[in-house]
Amino acid sequence: AHPPLGAGGTAPGVRATVLPPHDSPRGVASNRDAAGEFELTAQAVIVTSGGIGADHDIVRRHWPERLGTPPAEMVTGVPAYVDGRMLGISAEAGARLVNRDRMWHYTEGVRNWDPIWPGHGIRILPGPSSMWFDALGRRLPAPCLPGYDTLGTLRHLRTAEGLAEHDHSWFVLTQKIVEKEFALSGSEQNPDITAKDRAGFLRERVLGKGAPGPVDAFLRHGADFVTAPNLEQLVDKMNALTDKPLLDAAALRRQIEARDLQMANPYAKDAQVQGIRNARRYIGDRLGRVATPHRLLDPAAGPLIGVKLHILTRKTLGGIQTDLDSRALGADGTPVEGLYAAGEVAGFGGGGVHGYNALEGTFLGGCLFSGRAAGRAAARQTA
Ligand SMILES: Cc1cc2nc3c(=O)[nH]c(=O)nc-3n(C[C@H](O)[C@H](O)[C@H](O)COP(=O)(O)OP(=O)(O)OC[C@H]3O[C@@H](n4cnc5c(N)ncnc54)[C@H](O)[C@@H]3O)c2cc1C
Repeated sequence: AHPPLGAGGTAPGVRATVLPPHDSPRGVASNRDAAGEFELTAQAVIVTSGGIGADHDIVRRHWPERLGTPPAEMVTGVPAYVDGRMLGISAEAGARLVNRDRMWHYTEGVRNWDPIWPGHGIRILPGPSSMWFDALGRRLPAPCLPGYDTLGTLRHLRTAEGLAEHDHSWFVLTQKIVEKEFALSGSEQNPDITAKDRAGFLRERVLGKGAPGPVDAFLRHGADFVTAPNLEQLVDKMNALTDKPLLDAAALRRQIEARDLQMANPYAKDAQVQGIRNARRYIGDRLGRVATPHRLLDPAAGPLIGVKLHILTRKTLGGIQTDLDSRALGADGTPVEGLYAAGEVAGFGGGGVHGYNALEGTFLGGCLFSGRAAGRAAARQTA
């Protein structure tokens, strides 16, 4: 039982119970690692505990109807502490939770061969050339193309005929594509960028032969990656990664050959081929992001690679409703005294400022904005 935050005439307080740590492959500290139980009292409490992505049950419970059926299995794209626990605690203290069904998950998750947290998944930030197939081996329709429309693709994968019981999809690509087009999300996967190592960036990503180190490690160790010299062997290996063999090599071959034929056509009507050519008109992408167009079945571009993709939990777009001072609002729409919320737990400020969708990369901005508003308002309140 948590006493109301900020309620009553005395200084508001929060009582926190600290639980044993999650099982973590590397024993990395989470917020629950401290021992014992403590009680903290303050004039103002600012909740900044992040979203819900590490608790798949909460994600499934609030899964929106517009995205079809919730997946039975997902990989976790956020640290274990992003477990939504403070949302419930804040609600008990009187805060109103809104837009719980707004969430953003990626469709290009792979299991991390070297996990930092339980169920750790890494998102592939794909360039435009990989072919994308659903669990039954059907090419995804435009605009469900690599790197295009995240939530649109998620909706397709959860609502298209025959897919409700399958939680995965597939990339099929070549060694030539993986070398240029696979980037991995997460600071530990991008040591050259996080260390501001410009020479390393150029060496690895623009001039380099072979895939960048972290990508190469996934090719060698990743449970979701298979390679083969020809399509039939590749499909055998892909089928071995699922309970039942759902893919038919001949059907995949027909679709890949149709796409490959379009490569030879300067007026290609294939939306993905058009997208590849368009991306290469920008010098930055041409140099460092988009492979030279080629036929997937050209042995010179091989070996072929199949990647089993999982849904990866990431962002919580709803949460604690606040006003523009980041004050948490109660059921009657008035501020709960002394309680503030900022960042992802508050839907990046306000309880859902991004609406049902969002622009890639705009989340940190909302965290900073609402954090600044909360800090300023709390300082005014306690001055
Ligand atoms: C791999 C990855 C890549 C991303 N890339 C981008 C990007 O490129 N651009 C972008 O805009 N956004 C990106 N995001 C999203 C963005 O990082 C998050 O939305 C943002 O960090 C949320 O900030 P926050 O401060 O609200 O919560 P968090 O950063 O999740 O911090 C929450 C803090 O609260 C603590 N905490 C949680 N519960 C408790 C508790 N009960 N008691 C005490 N402490 C607690 C945690 O330990 C943690 O320190 C990415 C996220 C991930 C995981």
